[in-house]
Amino acid sequence: MAIKENLDKINNALPKEVTLVAVSKTKPVETILEAYEAGQRIFGENKIQEMANKWEALPKDIEWHMIGHVQRNKVKYMAEFVSLIHGVDSLRLLAEINKQAQKHNRIIPCLLQLHIAEESTKFGLDEQELNELLASETISGLEHIKIVGVMGMATFTDNKDQIRKEFAFLKSAFERLKMKLPEINTLSMGMSGDYTIALEEGSTMVRIGSSIFGARNYH
Ligand SMILES: *Cc1c(COP(=O)(O)O)cnc(C)c1O
Repeated sequence: MAIKENLDKINNALPKEVTLVAVSKTKPVETILEAYEAGQRIFGENKIQEMANKWEALPKDIEWHMIGHVQRNKVKYMAEFVSLIHGVDSLRLLAEINKQAQKHNRIIPCLLQLHIAEESTKFGLDEQELNELLASETISGLEHIKIVGVMGMATFTDNKDQIRKEFAFLKSAFERLKMKLPEINTLSMGMSGDYTIALEEGSTMVRIGSSIFGARNYH
């Protein structure tokens, strides 16, 4: 497995203002270290316990991103160290992140996940729910979270026009949100199969796993 070559290839294709999250879910620490030694410092995981174990085992200058669906009762296991939570889709979850961040005297950056795909299985808010969340009184009291942008996943399909349309919609939602929250700067969209389209549609952060580490084996 040529992890360094894969990373170099992807980094060469990314504009320098775009952040690469290397998605290391299911991969062992040895594999992550190989990417670390090639210079990669930001890794994404989708299971909190797995991410916490890797955080314990690996160098402390790694930034850990939670990219999966977050269960409220597990936020406490990552509050001490997580750098960015991508999949925030409810006020109750934000409130829990705030509570756990406070215990560690931290402010945890969060992305709001928007539902842009056709599939009903993918998590996320629609734009009305997003606006309701932002309008709620609770949110202004949450001093230990910071909303820094939005995240979305396109439909899993070969139809490139559809993927492009979904990413373009997410970008427009990001721009509308920016009118309310001018400080937001992160648009997390694009994975191994669709990041080229995501970049063309304005992504500032791509989450790439299999194109770096190879296919995943789920046991
Ligand atoms: C697994 C995963 C990725 C990476 O997928 P690849 O196709 O391996 O690049 C990106 N984002 C999320 C939310 C994921 O769960």
